[in-house]
Amino acid sequence: MDLDQQQAIDSNAKDQRLRLQRMTWGFGAQFSTWLVIWGLYLFGMLPGLPVAIYFLLIFSADLSFILLLKTDINLRFKDPSMTAAQIVTPIWPAVFIMFFVTDPQARTVFLLTATSGLMFGSFVMTRRGMLSVGAFILTSYMALLAALQLLAPERMDWRIEIIIVFTYASVLLTVAYLGSFISSMRLKLKDKNRELAELAARDPLTQLPNRRSLMDQLSQEVARVERRTADEDELCVSMLDVDHFKRINDTWGHDAGDAILCKISDELRKIMRKGDFLGRFGGEEFIAILPESTLDAAKRTAQRIQDCVASLSFAELPEGERITVSQGLAVYQPGERIESTLKRADEALYVAKENGRNQIVVSQADADQQQP
Ligand code: GH3
Ligand code: MG
Ligand code: MG
Repeated sequence: MDLDQQQAIDSNAKDQRLRLQRMTWGFGAQFSTWLVIWGLYLFGMLPGLPVAIYFLLIFSADLSFILLLKTDINLRFKDPSMTAAQIVTPIWPAVFIMFFVTDPQARTVFLLTATSGLMFGSFVMTRRGMLSVGAFILTSYMALLAALQLLAPERMDWRIEIIIVFTYASVLLTVAYLGSFISSMRLKLKDKNRELAELAARDPLTQLPNRRSLMDQLSQEVARVERRTADEDELCVSMLDVDHFKRINDTWGHDAGDAILCKISDELRKIMRKGDFLGRFGGEEFIAILPESTLDAAKRTAQRIQDCVASLSFAELPEGERITVSQGLAVYQPGERIESTLKRADEALYVAKENGRNQIVVSQADADQQQP
C-alpha cells in the first residue's frame, strides 16, 4: 500500500469518527424528547402502547444509523453524514406519538424538539435542504392536525392551532436561514483553509513546491523507506544549483533571471517521473526527491535533468547562450536524520562546483558504499 492510500484511509477514519461524534450529539438532543414522552406517560397524558411503539421505532432507527456508519455503508451515500435523514427520521414517530397526547398544549413541546433537530443541519446542509426539512416538519404537523380533525375532533382547537402553525412556520424559516448561513460559512472556511494550505506549500515565483513542502515530502518518504521491503527501494535526493546565476542576473537583469528560473522549473517539472518530487529549496537551488530508486537510476534521472536544462534556449538570453546546473546526489541511509542526507548532497554539490560546474557528483559516502 502506498503512502497516499494510507493517508486516504487515515483521513477517512477521522471523518467517520467525527460523524459518529455528531450522531452521539444528535442522540443527546433526542434524549430530552424521550424524557418528555416518559413524563407524559407518567403523568397519565399518554397511553402505554403508543409509548412502547414509539421507543421501538426510534431505537431501531437510531440503531440503523449506527450500523450504517459502523459498516461504512454510509460512504456510498451522497451525504455520508446522513444529516438530513437523521433529522427527518424521528419526525414521523414524533407525529405518531403526538396523536395520542390528550392535552393539545402538550403537543407543542414536540415542535420545540424538532426545531433543535433542524439546527443540526447547520453542519452540512444547504439553504434549500434546510428549508425542505423545515417544510417537511410543518407538513407533518399539519397532517397530524388533519388526522386529529378526522379521528378525534374533541382534542382540536382550531384557533390555537392556526396561531401555532403560523408561529412555527416563521420559527422554522428563521432557523433554516440562520442554519444554512452557518453551514455555508463553514464550507467557505473549509475551502479557504484548503486554498491557504496550498498557497503556503508553493513557491510564488515558480509555482513549484517550496522548501517547507519539500521538507514535509522528505519526512513522508523517510517514513516510507523505513518500512520498505526491497533493498533496491532507496530514497535519493539531488540538490541542484544553477551555475553562475549571479552573472546572469548582473548581465541580463533580475527580471530575466526570474523568467529563466520559471522556465527551468516548468521544463524540469515536465520531465520528472511520476512519484518523483521537485521543489525550489531557495534562490536558484532546487531539490529533486527520487523515491523508490537506486543510486544508478537516480544518476540517470540527474543526467536527464542536466540534459534538459542544457538544451533550453531562453528568450531573455542571446541566441546560443545556454544555462547549466550542478547537482549533488545522496542516498538516504536508514536511521539517519534527513538533514544529514541533505548535508551530504550539499557537500557533493560543492564538489561539483569546485570541479568546474555543469556536472553531477555523488556524495563520497554513497559512492564508497557502491564500490567497496
Ligand atoms: P554558482 O555557480 O557557484 O552557483 O554561482 P552563482 O552565481 O549561481 O551563485 P551565488 O549563490 O553566488 O548566486 C546566486 C544568485 O542567485 C544570487 C541571487 O541574486 C540570485 N537569486 C536568488 N534567488 C533569485 C530569484 O528569485 N530571482 C533572481 N532573478 N535571482 C535570484
Ligand atoms: Mg546557490
Ligand atoms: Mg548558483
